[in-house]
Amino acid sequence: MAKYTKRQNPAGWGDATKLVRGGLDRSPHGETSEAIYLTSGYVYEDPETAERRFAGEEEGYVYGRYGNPTVTMLEERMRLLEGAEACYAVASGMSAAFGALACQLKVGDHVVASRSLFGSNYQIITAILPKFGVTYELVDGTDAKAWKQAVKPQTKCVFLETPSNPLLEVLDIQMICDIAHKAGAVVIVDNVFATPILQKPMEQGADIVFYSNTKHTDGQGRVFGGTILCSKKFKEELLKPFLRHTGPTLSPFNAWVLLKGLETLKLRIEAQSRAAATIAEALASTKGVERVYYPHHDAHAQVKLARNQMKMGGTMVSFNVAGGKTKAFEVLRKLGIIDISNNLGDTKSLITHPATTTHRNIGPEARAMMGISDGNLRLSVGLEDVDDLVGDLRQALKT
Ligand SMILES: *Cc1c(COP(=O)(O)O)cnc(C)c1O
Repeated sequence: MAKYTKRQNPAGWGDATKLVRGGLDRSPHGETSEAIYLTSGYVYEDPETAERRFAGEEEGYVYGRYGNPTVTMLEERMRLLEGAEACYAVASGMSAAFGALACQLKVGDHVVASRSLFGSNYQIITAILPKFGVTYELVDGTDAKAWKQAVKPQTKCVFLETPSNPLLEVLDIQMICDIAHKAGAVVIVDNVFATPILQKPMEQGADIVFYSNTKHTDGQGRVFGGTILCSKKFKEELLKPFLRHTGPTLSPFNAWVLLKGLETLKLRIEAQSRAAATIAEALASTKGVERVYYPHHDAHAQVKLARNQMKMGGTMVSFNVAGGKTKAFEVLRKLGIIDISNNLGDTKSLITHPATTTHRNIGPEARAMMGISDGNLRLSVGLEDVDDLVGDLRQALKT
Protein backbone atom coordinates (compact mmCIF):
# COMPACT_ATOMS: atom_id res chain seq x y z
CA MET A 1 0.00 0.00 0.00
CA ALA A 2 2.82 2.37 0.84
CA LYS A 3 3.81 2.43 -2.84
CA TYR A 4 1.34 5.14 -3.83
CA THR A 5 1.30 7.02 -0.55
CA LYS A 6 3.72 9.92 -0.25
CA ARG A 7 4.01 10.82 3.38
CA GLN A 8 6.56 13.58 3.81
CA ASN A 9 6.21 14.97 7.31
CA PRO A 10 2.46 15.67 7.03
CA ALA A 11 2.47 17.26 10.50
CA GLY A 12 4.59 20.08 9.04
CA TRP A 13 2.19 20.79 6.16
CA GLY A 14 -0.04 23.86 6.04
CA ASP A 15 -3.79 23.46 6.57
CA ALA A 16 -4.64 23.49 2.84
CA THR A 17 -2.20 20.65 2.10
CA LYS A 18 -3.42 18.64 5.09
CA LEU A 19 -7.03 19.09 3.91
CA VAL A 20 -6.30 17.69 0.45
CA ARG A 21 -3.70 15.02 1.25
CA GLY A 22 -3.78 14.29 5.00
CA GLY A 23 -4.46 10.66 5.86
CA LEU A 24 -4.61 9.53 2.22
CA ASP A 25 -4.01 5.77 2.21
CA ARG A 26 -4.12 4.42 -1.34
CA SER A 27 -4.92 0.82 -2.13
CA PRO A 28 -2.62 -1.19 -4.46
CA HIS A 29 -4.80 0.10 -7.35
CA GLY A 30 -3.39 3.61 -6.97
CA GLU A 31 -6.74 5.41 -7.16
CA THR A 32 -6.55 9.25 -7.22
CA SER A 33 -9.56 9.79 -4.99
CA GLU A 34 -9.92 8.19 -1.56
CA ALA A 35 -11.52 4.72 -1.79
CA ILE A 36 -14.87 3.94 -0.14
CA TYR A 37 -14.54 0.66 1.73
CA LEU A 38 -18.24 -0.08 2.07
CA THR A 39 -17.89 -3.24 4.14
CA SER A 40 -19.09 -4.21 7.60
CA GLY A 41 -16.72 -7.13 8.10
CA TYR A 42 -13.25 -8.44 7.19
CA VAL A 43 -11.89 -11.86 6.25
CA TYR A 44 -8.66 -13.49 7.36
CA GLU A 45 -6.14 -15.54 5.41
CA ASP A 46 -6.03 -18.19 8.17
CA PRO A 47 -7.30 -18.73 11.73
CA GLU A 48 -3.94 -17.71 13.21
CA THR A 49 -4.30 -14.24 11.63
CA ALA A 50 -7.78 -13.85 13.15
CA GLU A 51 -6.40 -14.94 16.52
CA ARG A 52 -3.52 -12.45 16.36
CA ARG A 53 -5.85 -9.59 15.33
CA PHE A 54 -8.22 -10.30 18.20
CA ALA A 55 -5.32 -10.59 20.65
CA GLY A 56 -4.12 -7.16 19.49
CA GLU A 57 -0.80 -8.66 18.37
CA GLU A 58 -1.28 -7.65 14.75
CA GLU A 59 -2.58 -4.41 13.25
CA GLY A 60 -5.65 -4.82 11.08
CA TYR A 61 -9.40 -4.44 10.93
CA VAL A 62 -11.77 -6.95 12.55
CA TYR A 63 -15.26 -5.41 12.34
CA GLY A 64 -16.83 -2.24 10.97
CA ARG A 65 -17.93 -1.02 14.39
CA TYR A 66 -14.27 -1.18 15.49
CA GLY A 67 -12.78 0.46 12.41
CA ASN A 68 -12.81 0.97 8.66
CA PRO A 69 -10.08 2.20 6.25
CA THR A 70 -12.17 5.08 4.85
CA VAL A 71 -13.10 6.18 8.38
CA THR A 72 -9.42 5.94 9.38
CA MET A 73 -8.49 8.30 6.52
CA LEU A 74 -11.01 10.85 7.81
CA GLU A 75 -9.73 10.49 11.39
CA GLU A 76 -6.15 11.00 10.26
CA ARG A 77 -7.02 14.06 8.13
CA MET A 78 -8.93 15.66 11.02
CA ARG A 79 -6.16 14.77 13.47
CA LEU A 80 -3.48 16.44 11.33
CA LEU A 81 -5.64 19.52 10.74
CA GLU A 82 -6.29 19.99 14.47
CA GLY A 83 -2.73 19.14 15.48
CA ALA A 84 -4.08 16.57 17.96
CA GLU A 85 -2.54 13.27 19.07
CA ALA A 86 -5.66 11.26 18.23
CA CYS A 87 -9.07 11.41 16.58
CA TYR A 88 -12.17 9.18 16.78
CA ALA A 89 -14.91 9.57 14.17
CA VAL A 90 -18.55 8.87 15.03
CA ALA A 91 -22.01 9.01 13.46
CA SER A 92 -22.96 12.61 14.34
CA GLY A 93 -21.90 15.72 16.23
CA MET A 94 -24.12 14.71 19.13
CA SER A 95 -22.60 11.24 19.43
CA ALA A 96 -19.24 13.05 19.58
CA ALA A 97 -20.49 15.38 22.35
CA PHE A 98 -22.11 12.56 24.32
CA GLY A 99 -19.17 10.18 23.82
CA ALA A 100 -16.61 12.77 24.96
CA LEU A 101 -18.60 13.39 28.15
CA ALA A 102 -20.08 9.98 29.00
CA CYS A 103 -16.89 7.96 28.45
CA GLN A 104 -15.24 9.71 31.41
CA LEU A 105 -18.09 10.63 33.77
CA LYS A 106 -19.54 8.59 36.61
CA VAL A 107 -22.06 9.07 39.39
CA GLY A 108 -20.99 11.87 41.74
CA ASP A 109 -19.03 13.79 39.10
CA HIS A 110 -19.76 17.43 38.33
CA VAL A 111 -19.79 19.32 35.02
CA VAL A 112 -19.51 23.07 34.55
CA ALA A 113 -20.65 24.46 31.21
CA SER A 114 -21.14 27.84 29.58
CA ARG A 115 -24.87 28.62 29.54
CA SER A 116 -25.07 29.51 25.85
CA LEU A 117 -25.31 26.01 24.45
CA PHE A 118 -26.51 24.26 21.31
CA GLY A 119 -29.94 22.74 22.17
CA SER A 120 -28.84 19.09 22.29
CA ASN A 121 -25.66 19.90 24.28
CA TYR A 122 -27.98 21.60 26.77
CA GLN A 123 -30.21 18.49 26.94
CA ILE A 124 -27.26 16.14 27.54
CA ILE A 125 -25.84 18.25 30.37
CA THR A 126 -29.07 19.29 32.08
CA ALA A 127 -31.39 16.29 31.48
CA ILE A 128 -29.54 13.12 30.38
CA LEU A 129 -26.33 13.07 32.46
CA PRO A 130 -28.20 13.96 35.72
CA LYS A 131 -30.13 10.66 35.31
CA PHE A 132 -26.77 8.92 35.80
CA GLY A 133 -25.94 10.95 38.90
CA VAL A 134 -23.82 13.63 37.24
CA THR A 135 -24.53 17.13 38.55
CA TYR A 136 -23.94 20.37 36.66
CA GLU A 137 -23.73 24.12 36.84
CA LEU A 138 -24.20 26.57 33.97
CA VAL A 139 -22.30 29.85 34.02
CA ASP A 140 -22.04 33.08 32.05
CA GLY A 141 -19.09 31.92 29.95
CA THR A 142 -17.67 35.43 29.58
CA ASP A 143 -17.33 35.87 33.37
CA ALA A 144 -14.02 34.58 34.81
CA LYS A 145 -15.32 34.91 38.37
CA ALA A 146 -18.35 32.76 37.57
CA TRP A 147 -16.10 29.95 36.23
CA LYS A 148 -13.83 30.17 39.32
CA GLN A 149 -16.82 29.90 41.65
CA ALA A 150 -18.47 27.06 39.77
CA VAL A 151 -15.44 24.77 39.29
CA LYS A 152 -15.18 22.54 42.37
CA PRO A 153 -12.87 19.67 43.41
CA GLN A 154 -15.45 17.14 42.10
CA THR A 155 -15.68 18.96 38.73
CA LYS A 156 -14.56 16.42 36.19
CA CYS A 157 -15.39 18.26 32.97
CA VAL A 158 -15.64 21.84 31.81
CA PHE A 159 -17.66 22.21 28.62
CA LEU A 160 -17.93 25.22 26.34
CA GLU A 161 -18.91 26.44 22.89
CA THR A 162 -17.28 29.43 21.26
CA PRO A 163 -18.67 31.19 19.31
CA SER A 164 -21.95 30.09 20.83
CA ASN A 165 -25.23 29.29 19.16
CA PRO A 166 -27.19 31.40 18.30
CA LEU A 167 -25.80 34.66 19.77
CA LEU A 168 -22.13 34.12 18.81
CA GLU A 169 -20.83 34.86 22.28
CA VAL A 170 -17.03 34.49 22.27
CA LEU A 171 -15.41 32.84 25.27
CA ASP A 172 -11.76 33.07 26.33
CA ILE A 173 -10.59 29.48 25.85
CA GLN A 174 -7.22 30.01 27.53
CA MET A 175 -8.71 31.72 30.58
CA ILE A 176 -11.28 28.93 31.04
CA CYS A 177 -8.64 26.20 30.55
CA ASP A 178 -6.40 27.79 33.20
CA ILE A 179 -9.24 27.79 35.75
CA ALA A 180 -10.33 24.24 34.89
CA HIS A 181 -6.84 22.77 34.92
CA LYS A 182 -6.07 24.24 38.35
CA ALA A 183 -8.97 22.12 39.64
CA GLY A 184 -7.89 19.07 37.62
CA ALA A 185 -10.89 19.23 35.26
CA VAL A 186 -10.84 18.21 31.61
CA VAL A 187 -11.83 20.92 29.11
CA ILE A 188 -14.11 19.97 26.20
CA VAL A 189 -14.69 22.52 23.41
CA ASP A 190 -17.50 22.34 20.85
CA ASN A 191 -15.67 24.02 17.93
CA VAL A 192 -18.44 23.59 15.35
CA PHE A 193 -19.07 27.28 14.65
CA ALA A 194 -15.40 28.31 14.34
CA THR A 195 -14.14 25.19 12.50
CA PRO A 196 -10.44 24.21 12.74
CA ILE A 197 -9.72 26.72 9.95
CA LEU A 198 -10.45 29.72 12.18
CA GLN A 199 -9.64 28.41 15.65
CA LYS A 200 -7.67 25.50 17.12
CA PRO A 201 -8.69 25.32 20.80
CA MET A 202 -5.92 22.86 21.76
CA GLU A 203 -3.40 25.65 21.12
CA GLN A 204 -5.16 27.53 23.95
CA GLY A 205 -5.05 24.51 26.25
CA ALA A 206 -8.25 22.56 25.49
CA ASP A 207 -7.98 18.81 26.20
CA ILE A 208 -10.76 17.64 23.89
CA VAL A 209 -12.26 19.30 20.82
CA PHE A 210 -15.25 17.93 18.97
CA TYR A 211 -17.04 18.64 15.72
CA SER A 212 -20.32 18.08 14.02
CA ASN A 213 -18.81 17.32 10.61
CA THR A 214 -22.42 17.44 9.38
CA LYS A 215 -21.98 21.20 9.28
CA HIS A 216 -19.03 22.93 7.57
CA THR A 217 -16.98 19.77 6.85
CA ASP A 218 -19.60 18.35 4.52
CA GLY A 219 -20.77 21.89 3.90
CA GLN A 220 -23.26 20.81 1.27
CA GLY A 221 -26.03 19.41 3.45
CA ARG A 222 -25.66 15.71 2.64
CA VAL A 223 -24.45 13.51 5.50
CA PHE A 224 -24.02 13.23 9.26
CA GLY A 225 -20.73 12.75 11.03
CA GLY A 226 -18.79 13.76 14.12
CA THR A 227 -15.19 13.70 15.32
CA ILE A 228 -13.52 13.84 18.72
CA LEU A 229 -9.93 15.12 18.91
CA CYS A 230 -7.99 14.19 22.03
CA SER A 231 -4.82 12.66 23.47
CA LYS A 232 -3.76 9.11 22.56
CA LYS A 233 -4.23 8.07 26.18
CA PHE A 234 -7.81 9.45 26.34
CA LYS A 235 -8.70 7.70 23.09
CA GLU A 236 -7.24 4.32 24.06
CA GLU A 237 -8.34 4.20 27.70
CA LEU A 238 -11.72 5.94 27.67
CA LEU A 239 -13.15 6.75 24.25
CA LYS A 240 -12.45 3.52 22.39
CA PRO A 241 -14.00 1.15 24.94
CA PHE A 242 -17.05 3.41 25.30
CA LEU A 243 -17.71 4.05 21.61
CA ARG A 244 -16.86 0.59 20.28
CA HIS A 245 -19.36 -1.03 22.60
CA THR A 246 -22.11 1.61 22.51
CA GLY A 247 -21.90 1.79 18.70
CA PRO A 248 -22.38 5.27 17.16
CA THR A 249 -20.48 4.02 14.09
CA LEU A 250 -19.76 6.40 11.22
CA SER A 251 -20.78 5.02 7.83
CA PRO A 252 -17.78 4.60 5.48
CA PHE A 253 -19.83 6.33 2.79
CA ASN A 254 -20.37 9.35 5.03
CA ALA A 255 -16.67 9.35 5.92
CA TRP A 256 -15.87 9.51 2.22
CA VAL A 257 -18.26 12.44 1.63
CA LEU A 258 -16.62 14.22 4.57
CA LEU A 259 -13.12 13.55 3.22
CA LYS A 260 -14.12 15.19 -0.06
CA GLY A 261 -15.74 18.06 1.87
CA LEU A 262 -12.53 18.68 3.79
CA GLU A 263 -10.64 19.23 0.54
CA THR A 264 -12.51 22.52 -0.03
CA LEU A 265 -13.09 23.45 3.64
CA LYS A 266 -10.53 26.27 3.82
CA LEU A 267 -11.73 27.89 0.59
CA ARG A 268 -15.35 27.73 1.67
CA ILE A 269 -14.80 28.97 5.24
CA GLU A 270 -12.74 31.93 4.06
CA ALA A 271 -15.23 32.92 1.34
CA GLN A 272 -18.26 32.42 3.59
CA SER A 273 -16.61 34.34 6.45
CA ARG A 274 -15.78 37.27 4.16
CA ALA A 275 -19.41 37.37 3.01
CA ALA A 276 -20.67 37.07 6.61
CA ALA A 277 -18.55 40.07 7.68
CA THR A 278 -19.99 42.12 4.78
CA ILE A 279 -23.53 41.08 5.70
CA ALA A 280 -23.01 41.92 9.40
CA GLU A 281 -21.83 45.39 8.40
CA ALA A 282 -24.81 45.87 6.05
CA LEU A 283 -27.34 44.67 8.65
CA ALA A 284 -25.89 47.03 11.29
CA SER A 285 -26.93 49.99 9.11
CA THR A 286 -30.31 48.59 8.04
CA LYS A 287 -33.49 50.10 9.52
CA GLY A 288 -35.47 47.64 11.61
CA VAL A 289 -32.39 45.77 12.83
CA GLU A 290 -31.96 46.34 16.57
CA ARG A 291 -28.73 44.49 17.13
CA VAL A 292 -26.16 42.51 15.15
CA TYR A 293 -24.01 39.74 16.65
CA TYR A 294 -20.84 38.99 14.69
CA PRO A 295 -17.51 38.09 16.37
CA HIS A 296 -15.29 40.42 14.33
CA HIS A 297 -17.79 43.30 14.16
CA ASP A 298 -16.84 46.44 16.11
CA ALA A 299 -20.10 46.32 18.08
CA HIS A 300 -19.49 42.75 19.36
CA ALA A 301 -19.14 42.62 23.16
CA GLN A 302 -15.91 40.53 22.97
CA VAL A 303 -14.53 41.87 19.69
CA LYS A 304 -10.94 42.18 20.97
CA LEU A 305 -10.87 38.62 22.22
CA ALA A 306 -12.60 37.40 19.05
CA ARG A 307 -9.96 39.05 16.84
CA ASN A 308 -7.19 37.43 18.90
CA GLN A 309 -8.74 34.00 19.11
CA MET A 310 -10.31 33.59 15.65
CA LYS A 311 -8.59 34.18 12.29
CA MET A 312 -11.84 35.48 10.77
CA GLY A 313 -15.30 36.19 12.20
CA GLY A 314 -16.88 32.96 10.98
CA THR A 315 -19.77 32.05 8.69
CA MET A 316 -22.63 32.82 11.09
CA VAL A 317 -24.42 36.14 11.69
CA SER A 318 -27.11 36.65 14.29
CA PHE A 319 -29.40 39.69 14.51
CA ASN A 320 -32.46 41.00 16.31
CA VAL A 321 -35.28 42.65 14.41
CA ALA A 322 -37.55 45.23 16.04
CA GLY A 323 -41.07 43.81 16.39
CA GLY A 324 -40.44 40.39 17.94
CA LYS A 325 -41.70 37.10 16.55
CA THR A 326 -44.30 38.68 14.22
CA LYS A 327 -41.71 40.81 12.45
CA ALA A 328 -39.09 38.02 12.45
CA PHE A 329 -41.58 35.66 10.75
CA GLU A 330 -42.50 38.39 8.24
CA VAL A 331 -38.82 38.78 7.31
CA LEU A 332 -38.46 35.00 6.88
CA ARG A 333 -41.53 34.83 4.63
CA LYS A 334 -40.26 37.67 2.42
CA LEU A 335 -36.80 36.20 1.77
CA GLY A 336 -36.43 35.19 -1.87
CA ILE A 337 -33.00 33.53 -1.90
CA ILE A 338 -32.08 32.59 1.67
CA ASP A 339 -33.85 29.40 2.77
CA ILE A 340 -35.58 28.87 6.11
CA SER A 341 -33.63 26.02 7.70
CA ASN A 342 -32.11 25.22 11.08
CA ASN A 343 -29.13 23.54 9.42
CA LEU A 344 -25.91 25.54 9.07
CA GLY A 345 -22.48 25.65 7.50
CA ASP A 346 -23.95 24.96 4.06
CA THR A 347 -23.03 26.45 0.67
CA LYS A 348 -26.67 27.62 0.57
CA SER A 349 -27.45 30.52 2.92
CA LEU A 350 -29.88 29.34 5.60
CA ILE A 351 -31.79 31.27 8.27
CA THR A 352 -33.70 30.20 11.35
CA HIS A 353 -35.78 31.69 14.16
CA PRO A 354 -34.09 30.09 17.20
CA ALA A 355 -36.90 30.78 19.71
CA THR A 356 -39.35 28.59 17.76
CA THR A 357 -36.90 26.03 16.35
CA THR A 358 -33.41 25.16 17.68
CA HIS A 359 -34.04 26.73 21.09
CA ARG A 360 -37.77 25.95 21.43
CA ASN A 361 -37.37 22.93 23.71
CA ILE A 362 -35.32 24.69 26.37
CA GLY A 363 -38.29 26.96 27.19
CA PRO A 364 -38.73 30.72 27.65
CA GLU A 365 -36.81 30.94 30.94
CA ALA A 366 -33.65 29.32 29.59
CA ARG A 367 -33.95 31.47 26.46
CA ALA A 368 -34.18 34.60 28.60
CA MET A 369 -31.13 33.48 30.60
CA MET A 370 -29.21 33.03 27.33
CA GLY A 371 -30.47 36.38 25.99
CA ILE A 372 -32.31 34.88 22.99
CA SER A 373 -35.19 37.23 22.15
CA ASP A 374 -38.25 36.49 20.01
CA GLY A 375 -36.89 38.91 17.42
CA ASN A 376 -33.63 37.00 16.97
CA LEU A 377 -32.70 35.42 13.64
CA ARG A 378 -29.63 33.27 13.00
CA LEU A 379 -28.14 33.33 9.53
CA SER A 380 -25.66 30.80 8.13
CA VAL A 381 -23.94 32.52 5.21
CA GLY A 382 -23.35 30.40 2.10
CA LEU A 383 -21.44 30.82 -1.14
CA GLU A 384 -23.90 32.91 -3.17
CA ASP A 385 -22.87 36.39 -4.39
CA VAL A 386 -22.79 38.56 -1.30
CA ASP A 387 -24.61 41.41 -3.09
CA ASP A 388 -27.53 39.07 -3.77
CA LEU A 389 -27.67 38.09 -0.10
CA VAL A 390 -27.51 41.69 1.17
CA GLY A 391 -30.20 42.64 -1.36
CA ASP A 392 -32.42 39.75 -0.24
CA LEU A 393 -32.10 40.70 3.44
CA ARG A 394 -32.66 44.43 2.77
CA GLN A 395 -35.86 43.86 0.76
CA ALA A 396 -37.16 41.45 3.42
CA LEU A 397 -36.48 43.95 6.21
CA LYS A 398 -38.16 46.85 4.37
CA THR A 399 -41.38 47.98 6.06
C1 LIG B 1 -25.17 20.79 14.81
C2 LIG B 1 -24.40 21.04 16.04
C3 LIG B 1 -24.11 19.99 16.92
C4 LIG B 1 -24.64 18.59 16.70
O1 LIG B 1 -24.21 17.98 15.54
P1 LIG B 1 -25.07 16.84 14.73
O2 LIG B 1 -24.16 16.44 13.65
O3 LIG B 1 -26.32 17.52 14.27
O4 LIG B 1 -25.37 15.75 15.69
C5 LIG B 1 -23.38 20.29 18.05
N1 LIG B 1 -22.94 21.54 18.31
C6 LIG B 1 -23.20 22.58 17.49
C7 LIG B 1 -22.68 23.92 17.84
C8 LIG B 1 -23.93 22.37 16.32
O5 LIG B 1 -24.20 23.39 15.52
